[in-house]
Amino acid sequence: ARSTQHFATGFGINSVGKIPLGLKRKGLRIVVTGGAGFVGSHLVDRLIARGDSVIVVDNFFTGRKENVMHHFGNPNFELIRHDVVEPLLLEVDQIYHLACPASPVHYKHNPVKTIKTNVVGTLNMLGLAKRVGARFLLTSTSEVYGDPLQHPQVETYWGNVNPIGVRSCYDEGKRTAETLTMDYHRGAGVEVRIARIFNTYGPRMCIDDGRVVSNFVAQALRKEPLTVYGDGKQTRSFQFVSDLVEGLMRLMEGEHVGPFNLGNPGEFTMLELAQVVQETIDPNAKIEFRPNTEDDPHKRKPDISKAKDQLGWEPKVALRKGLPMMVSDFRQRIFGDRKENAS
Ligand code: NAD
Ligand code: UDP
Ligand code: UDP
Repeated sequence: ARSTQHFATGFGINSVGKIPLGLKRKGLRIVVTGGAGFVGSHLVDRLIARGDSVIVVDNFFTGRKENVMHHFGNPNFELIRHDVVEPLLLEVDQIYHLACPASPVHYKHNPVKTIKTNVVGTLNMLGLAKRVGARFLLTSTSEVYGDPLQHPQVETYWGNVNPIGVRSCYDEGKRTAETLTMDYHRGAGVEVRIARIFNTYGPRMCIDDGRVVSNFVAQALRKEPLTVYGDGKQTRSFQFVSDLVEGLMRLMEGEHVGPFNLGNPGEFTMLELAQVVQETIDPNAKIEFRPNTEDDPHKRKPDISKAKDQLGWEPKVALRKGLPMMVSDFRQRIFGDRKENAS
């Protein structure tokens, strides 16, 4: 628990001093679905630090109690083991809806469950929002743009998505979740917000979730070769988690529905990312090429003009600054925390 506590305070994520004045509101009751996961747990830290009462709803598919354990015993914090595919009765002011596996390895593991989570799970949380008059924020994804034919991606682009492919449970699921969100907004007057999140990394990511940043970092630390899929020329744009959390909170508190791209426009090929990991961890780390996965998007980079204009938000942490913070977390979890992990 001590290491988790350290991360909660160590990156400015939990520091009240960093919260812009406009976000200081007291005593809201907030539910965070998926709050025991990577992004959710960092969001919970910020909300608790701001003085809100937070209920985390999570089925622990990819989330871990360790991510929120440092709040146990705090009367403003509650953790409920619950699957959002089942209805849920709560009285709250705001709903941050994050519950959904995010790594391709996880969401392809049980594709039917993934799409049920996105569709039925989102429907339930919108039904809850409607019943209690809560504001609802959906964490959608850059995957709604599919293998994009426009670069960088703007929110007005409708995307290029395969509806019957192996990624569809996730990207079509999120597209349907966006549709549901807008229909509850237009049809039932629910206050909604939509974030389209681009690739995000940082402390508390699952070590073996198969995503590229976690894979490369874990591989370099374990002295294994970095596995580059395909020719490594495909691109992604990597955002540090504290920037994302700031964007989500500004979006929730602001007046605009969205959708908003939340991502860092710094674009890297996977080979360039491997190089940054080598520079950060081990210049002698080897690179090994593997066949790429099906339907892999060739490029991805957010146009964030809308978020800049309407939310006054832009990311602050460049990859070369954020990566070391993730590396120290991974180092500790892989090598330093064996006793804690074994229990
Ligand atoms: P994560 O896997 O760490 O967190 C997801 C959480 O949701 C986990 O705690 C998991 O146990 C929980 N969950 C999954 N299915 C559930 C269900 N049916 N009922 C209750 N809880 C359930 O992933 P993350 O990276 O923290 O992603 C959080 C959200 O952000 C997801 O909705 C994801 O689609 C979105 N997103 C993330 C990224 C990224 O790069 N991290 C990019 C785009 C979108
Ligand atoms: N729902 C929920 N909690 C609530 C209210 C609704 O989980 O507090 C679920 C409900 O079970 C339903 C879904 O949300 O499956 C949609 O609810 P809504 O009232 O919009 O539709 P209806 O129940 O009329 O189909
Ligand atoms: N990738 C890679 N090596 C890995 C894991 C992923 O080269 O060990 C590539 C993958 O093919 C994709 C990119 O990295 O082109 C990003 O993959 P990730 O699963 O992190 O996220 P995605 O953006 O595809 O959801």
